[in-house]
Amino acid sequence: MYSEDMRGLLAEKFDKDDEGGHEPKKGKYSPSDCWKCHRAWFLKYVLPMEYRMADEESWGTFERGNDVEDKKEEALKNYLGENHVINGVDIEIDLRDEFGFRITGETDPLIVWRNLKVLIIYEVKSTGEVGEDPSLSQSHLFQIVVYLKALEDRFPEREIGIVSYVDKKNYQGADFSSKLKEEIWQLVLSRFIRFHQFLENEEIPARNPMNSWYCTEEYCPYYEICHLLPEEKVPLEDNKRIKIDGEVVELEIPKEDDREAEIEEFKGKLEKITGGIEIGKID
Ligand code: SF4
Repeated sequence: MYSEDMRGLLAEKFDKDDEGGHEPKKGKYSPSDCWKCHRAWFLKYVLPMEYRMADEESWGTFERGNDVEDKKEEALKNYLGENHVINGVDIEIDLRDEFGFRITGETDPLIVWRNLKVLIIYEVKSTGEVGEDPSLSQSHLFQIVVYLKALEDRFPEREIGIVSYVDKKNYQGADFSSKLKEEIWQLVLSRFIRFHQFLENEEIPARNPMNSWYCTEEYCPYYEICHLLPEEKVPLEDNKRIKIDGEVVELEIPKEDDREAEIEEFKGKLEKITGGIEIGKID
């Protein structure tokens, strides 16, 4: 029988819609942001939650599509067997000693073999019409390379990532495979390092979009706010208070919680739902 805590957790999950959005914190970054214009990425971190939701909405909803990822997982399980597909595996690349941050995220379905050796990592994207000549977007390539890097020790010999586009209207799609290309990982890593420096130095990055299509009112959720700020790189301190729709909004960098405290809190939570079963070391 489930404990009251576990039942409460489930009830909460069933009763409430997904409210979306995890709190971005300095020092803990997500693979799904690494392709973004540094300024958009920065604004996602420093704006109050209600403004960050725009990011979740424009990207989260768009990317998640109509739970296309779950459908892909089910389809793969039906075909390959339950034991060979796992979804939502937590990853972490801990770079705190070298660069002062870590990259954490959650994968889409993985194809695994015995001993949980990973054979393929999927990154599933809901898309509009796939068209005659589909291509792999750079942002998705960046993302899959981060997951490949995070799980490289779990591959028996050759690591394969697949970005899988699915048109949910007609189930047409296109898959693009990639290995872990060290030069792309280095490029992605340099983007994380640069981003971390902006937060460390409390500097708002210059307007320098990665993709011209994204740098538009239609796609960039921060377009308006971005254009309230100077074009060049500027100290956050001098631009902390900006007026959005007549309201003064304070920008601030949220700091990552202390790691030890995080572990203690996690252990406490685990104890509650497992009723005190002895667990292995967490560090
Ligand atoms: S409007 Fe363009 S430059 Fe400004 S944050 Fe968005 S993508 Fe970056």
